[in-house]
Amino acid sequence: MRQKLVIGNWKMHGSLAANTALLEGIKAVPARARLAVCAPFPYLAQCQSLLAASNVAWGAQDVSAEARGAFTGEVAASMLAEFGVSYVLVGHSERRSYHGETDATVAAKALRALEFGIVPVVCVGETLAQREAGQTEAVVGRQLGAVLEALSLEQLGQIVLAYEPVWAIGTGKTASSEQAQAVHAFLRGQVAARDAGVAGRMAMLYGGSVKPDNAAELFSMPDIDGGLIGGASLKSDDFLAIGNA
Ligand code: PEP
Repeated sequence: MRQKLVIGNWKMHGSLAANTALLEGIKAVPARARLAVCAPFPYLAQCQSLLAASNVAWGAQDVSAEARGAFTGEVAASMLAEFGVSYVLVGHSERRSYHGETDATVAAKALRALEFGIVPVVCVGETLAQREAGQTEAVVGRQLGAVLEALSLEQLGQIVLAYEPVWAIGTGKTASSEQAQAVHAFLRGQVAARDAGVAGRMAMLYGGSVKPDNAAELFSMPDIDGGLIGGASLKSDDFLAIGNA
């Protein structure tokens, strides 16, 4: 039985004061799922100091594929590790579309994170046009395929996968639990083709307008092991309600 995992993606939101209130609220109440928050880089030290003695883990929203060097504006995995980061999002659709990240870049970032003991949360998902053209499996299969190719079996066993249909992110439109389950089952099958044991253990999260009122149904599906939560992760009550769904 896989433990449920609920990860908040704060995106480019927050302030020192707002984060303190949010984190104090989240860590005060136990949740049934394992909880983590992915904060903007400048707030990782704050997460480390406020969450270190709690059950809530923290993570970053991106990492450089490079180890170090002349890459202005980039943040290295070694730096994230110094701030106690457990998770890092790689290949979020906002990085793929606004920053031109390719499948190969996403795989390289996942590898770099693993090198420093950080769990990459590999995000995949199709646009509305791709779904309507019947290309969902081809698109998420290609995105996952680059990671399957780049990682050893041992490395693959350490990642978290997040299915986030682009048309459901921040739009209020969520995939139905059946739509999400179908894609999760397809993704698990792709991993199983490489190794059934790894596929059976891999946490696969759904993301895209998850809220307290739809989380329980989504999370009850056999291949959905929790959620990657954007907007609703910014309110402690909503995030906790999802963590208990
Ligand atoms: C996200 O940004 O990963 C996300 C799922 O956002 P939202 O929950 O707001 O749709």
